Amino acid sequence: MEIVRRNKASSLESAEGGAVSTIPLYRSAPAIEVRLEDFELYAVHRLRVLKGISDGLSRGKKVNEMEKLVNELWRANMMQVEASDVVNKDVISHFVLRLVYCREEELRKWFLSMESTLFRYRFQLETPEAQRALLVEFDLPYKAVSSAEYESIKDKLNQVVRSIGQSLSTADTIYYKVPFEQVPDLVASRRVFLLKGYAYVATNQVVSLLMTQYRSHLSKALVLTNRKWTSMIREQEKDRLTPIIEALSTSYLGPDYSQPKEFAEITLKDIDQVAKSSFPLCMSHLFVKLREDHHLKHGGRMQLGLFLKGVGLNLDDALAFWKTEFSKKVGAERFDKEYAYSIRHNYGKEGKRTDYTPYSCQKIISSTPGVGNHHGCPYRHFSEENLRAALGKMGVGNRAMEEVIDKVRNRHYQLACTLTFEAIHGELCDAGINHPNQYYSDSRKILDSKNKSRVS
Ligand code: SF4
Repeated sequence: MEIVRRNKASSLESAEGGAVSTIPLYRSAPAIEVRLEDFELYAVHRLRVLKGISDGLSRGKKVNEMEKLVNELWRANMMQVEASDVVNKDVISHFVLRLVYCREEELRKWFLSMESTLFRYRFQLETPEAQRALLVEFDLPYKAVSSAEYESIKDKLNQVVRSIGQSLSTADTIYYKVPFEQVPDLVASRRVFLLKGYAYVATNQVVSLLMTQYRSHLSKALVLTNRKWTSMIREQEKDRLTPIIEALSTSYLGPDYSQPKEFAEITLKDIDQVAKSSFPLCMSHLFVKLREDHHLKHGGRMQLGLFLKGVGLNLDDALAFWKTEFSKKVGAERFDKEYAYSIRHNYGKEGKRTDYTPYSCQKIISSTPGVGNHHGCPYRHFSEENLRAALGKMGVGNRAMEEVIDKVRNRHYQLACTLTFEAIHGELCDAGINHPNQYYSDSRKILDSKNKSRVS
């Protein structure tokens, strides 16, 4: 890497005034004692931040909107401890999630991408002094471009500055000369001057360099953590940390939908009507298949059965509902012997008497339905052709359909479901869809208020 200096006074090699950045670089896990509750709680709080970022990105939020979102998410989730514990919480939560997300390629990719984005926006929210301090901590091997070199290319630099809509004079800006492959985002968006394989990176673009370093460090660290996890930690911690770690990657962080809250119970008389108007595609598909085939395999019975419990179908009605369908295929007697137990079990009336919770989107999306199974999330598990047909039946118009398919192709399944919801109900769903029972209750709210305004 070539290093040239334009102006000694403007070098970023030393932090001014001893300013300290609030962003740790997570180089090694801290040797501190952590209570088991905090171990899990801190990770859940950070996960809320990362999931909020993921949602913001998939909704196509602009840079300034993302900056605001990250700031709000961070304040709401990570700052609710004593000021002296904020850094500890930050570091502990990061290392716990490293363990959670190191275990599979897909998980690693997601975590890497969200943590890098979090880093980027946190850096931008720092004061210039703290940014300089962080730059020093990174110990990057870059120095400012020399005055002579700057003079020889200043017209080109000014052209780039104008082309990206900035009015700053480059004379006051420090430039760093780095191999172009170190700043792929700046190159891709044509926001940097390139010459003979080098990119000239301005001070306000330095975050791209840091991101590259941060990403590469974290990517290697995740692979190493995975090795330690499989060779040692998983077994050593099998009774204590391992169950927490394994549950965290699919944990659902929203409200509990195990009991209907806002709406009266649904009855068998209404069920076909509400299935049509207010069930998300994953549930309306299972519902239709059950009516057609008079049977669902275990995964489908669990997914639909718990959802119905959450929307307010009481146990007696649930038994009657499933029996009516299954009897047509397997007979009433076999239903009573083989299937009724699991329905009572879901309602906490058998076995350990646990009141089971309806599945979240995340859990449904990460399921792997085999041939002949109808559970799962249609946005993830349907072919494009089948999905288009299903969306058409739900009344999604052409334009909205293309937007939904675009999100599916980019693997933003919950966002695809959110856009479907918005297209059908004609209202925005700012929070996004995170749970089938949330889809149902948001839908009922909208439809009920439309009905009321029609009557009055
Ligand atoms: S995104 Fe969630 S609610 Fe929508 S279809 Fe998939 S699992 Fe169901």
